[in-house]
Amino acid sequence: MRPFDYVEPETLEEALEILAADPDDTVVMAGGTSLVILLKQDLIRPARVLGLRRIAELRAISATDEGLVLGALATHGMLARSPAVRAHAAALASTFAAVATVRIREQATLGGNLAHADPAQDPPVTLLALDGAAVARSRFGERRIPLDTLFTDLFETSLEPGELLLRVELPRLPVAARATYQKFLPATRDDYATVSVAAAVATDARGACTHARIALGGAATVPLRAREAERSLMGRRFDDAAIREAAALAAAATDPIDDLRGSASYKRAMVGVWTERALREVA
Ligand SMILES: Cc1cc2nc3c(=O)[nH]c(=O)nc-3n(C[C@H](O)[C@H](O)[C@H](O)COP(=O)(O)OP(=O)(O)OC[C@H]3O[C@@H](n4cnc5c(N)ncnc54)[C@H](O)[C@@H]3O)c2cc1C
Repeated sequence: MRPFDYVEPETLEEALEILAADPDDTVVMAGGTSLVILLKQDLIRPARVLGLRRIAELRAISATDEGLVLGALATHGMLARSPAVRAHAAALASTFAAVATVRIREQATLGGNLAHADPAQDPPVTLLALDGAAVARSRFGERRIPLDTLFTDLFETSLEPGELLLRVELPRLPVAARATYQKFLPATRDDYATVSVAAAVATDARGACTHARIALGGAATVPLRAREAERSLMGRRFDDAAIREAAALAAAATDPIDDLRGSASYKRAMVGVWTERALREVA
């Protein structure tokens, strides 16, 4: 690891100033669970590391009239235990509880998870299915980034140098919507997903779909919405045939990479299987 300066401001304004002064040579650290590995492996060599942990306002989790707001510095453990998160969608709380081990969950943060942009991570998948948007700020202003435009490639996001993730905003779920998160873990329980699926579906009194979201993890270089599969469900009776067709369309939407968790063709097949399970669960 190369030597670097470490700065730990008390306020968001101070942090944004430090970042703006030298955005290309300053990296942000939240829980450090991913960043420290990159530093130790010499994959990044910043002049300065900007620690965020003293900025308490970024930890807040709150239910509002519009929905739910999750601070970027909230840890997976805090989010998994939060009554507000559970009240919004039990599937969201169980997504945070599915991240790694207790040691990682109590240290690693939501903002670090989104900015790290590993497509096998858990929270982005459920947050996509729940129509989440990230809010980022630089010294020059604030912008809202729908999560389906945040992830641009493997470990890459649309965040600009000098921008900090502040929070994730989730709108209220439609009345009677049901949501689930399914993580396929063929090796050990604390692993990253081989593939994962989040679904949120609402039906009307006749059993026809009025709302359908399907999001996939480990299925491409970025977490994905399976939009064709969602469209195939809308307005249609949420029955066995509709579920099977949507699962096949979700598998067809994937473009996985071969890695130690499976070949691309295996992951594609598993997306079909786990999408079907997710949809049966919410049905
Ligand atoms: C052993 C191990 C197992 C894991 N297993 C899983 C798993 O099963 N599922 C899963 O989803 N994840 C898993 N992870 C990933 C883990 O969730 C992420 O490492 C974590 O969420 C990153 O959060 P952090 O606070 O530690 O981020 P850091 O390590 O501090 O930062 C990660 C990246 O985000 C940037 N960053 C951090 N905060 C911000 C911010 N507010 N604004 C802008 N950029 C920011 C940093 O500059 C860095 O590029 C695992 C990690 C480890 C080490």
